Amino acid sequence: MKVTFPHMGNVYIAVKILFDGLGIDYVIPPINNKTALEIGVTYAPEEMCLPYKIMIGNYIQSIEQGADTILLVGSCGPCRFGEYCELQMKALEKLGHNLKFIVMDYPKDIGKRELLKRVEYLISESPKNAGEKAVAALRALKAINLIDKIEERAHYLAGYEINRGDCKKLLNQCKRDVFKTNDPNEGIKTLENYRKMIEKVEIDKSRNPLKVAVIGEIYTVIDPFSNLNIEDKLMDYGVCSKRKLTPSWWVKDAAMKVLKLNSLDLRRASREYLPYYIGGHARECIGEAMIAQKENFDGAIQIFPMGCMPEIITKAILPSISRDKNFPIMSLVVDEMTGEGGYITRIEAFLDLIERRQKDVSYGC
Ligand code: SF4
Repeated sequence: MKVTFPHMGNVYIAVKILFDGLGIDYVIPPINNKTALEIGVTYAPEEMCLPYKIMIGNYIQSIEQGADTILLVGSCGPCRFGEYCELQMKALEKLGHNLKFIVMDYPKDIGKRELLKRVEYLISESPKNAGEKAVAALRALKAINLIDKIEERAHYLAGYEINRGDCKKLLNQCKRDVFKTNDPNEGIKTLENYRKMIEKVEIDKSRNPLKVAVIGEIYTVIDPFSNLNIEDKLMDYGVCSKRKLTPSWWVKDAAMKVLKLNSLDLRRASREYLPYYIGGHARECIGEAMIAQKENFDGAIQIFPMGCMPEIITKAILPSISRDKNFPIMSLVVDEMTGEGGYITRIEAFLDLIERRQKDVSYGC
């Protein structure tokens, strides 16, 4: 068995640490890129959403490197993601690839016993004992929390850094260093070191940088290739950015869902404008916009793939929030046709707008 999985932001770092710890053979597809998207576009239905297409590209690039098993998380929710695994299985089968899919669905959807059966299958080829397997899982959890925290701090501190580019450099170096090692303990140590280093970046606390919340569909906000590296761009402009949806947030949310205690802050915040679950992470998107406004952020940028059903609904709600709360929000739709030039122009125009508003407020206009 040679396992692969689709990319989603920093997930590959934690999965690598997990599989290295378990001693399982795996393939990490090349970081999301144009070729993966082109492959996906060739084999996916045109109207399918962007994450599906990139994932197909990931699988095929991994199959070329010998992968025969695909690990992915499922969701029986009312959006296309709930159908991804079935559709992807069929699409790959049609292409003549005979692969095993291991889908980690929520226990409420498939039952605890079935979930355990799937976990057991995944780790069946691990030569480690039960204790070592548990340690490997805990290490992976620690890794995803660490890398998400480092990234969160880098995105935020970029607005205050004295030497422009320090945070971005450190973040990229961290990802490169942790990826280099096949020793999971060394991987964790590397992440712990960078966690300390990011707090030591020289900053000027007297600055008043623009603060922008990045909200929207979970895959496109997390995956830099899909959102055309928006967070890197904001760092380059010296803007603080914040995003609540991360892989570690997803893990916590999934765990707390069993007790119905997941993301209470976001659900509470979204109640005024979207009190119902409508699929995807629509409620989280509305909740994040509301929280960002309360935390005195200067604006929010929503990103979602063309045709994303839940985010089309939130896009229709966000202008009401913007008007009622006097809070600028811009929506960006991405797909394989998105051109970088127009995308950057829109971001820069939005930043100009919120900068002018910030100045007007400070001069008392
Ligand atoms: S949330 Fe949107 S983009 Fe993501 S799978 Fe559902 S419909 Fe597609």
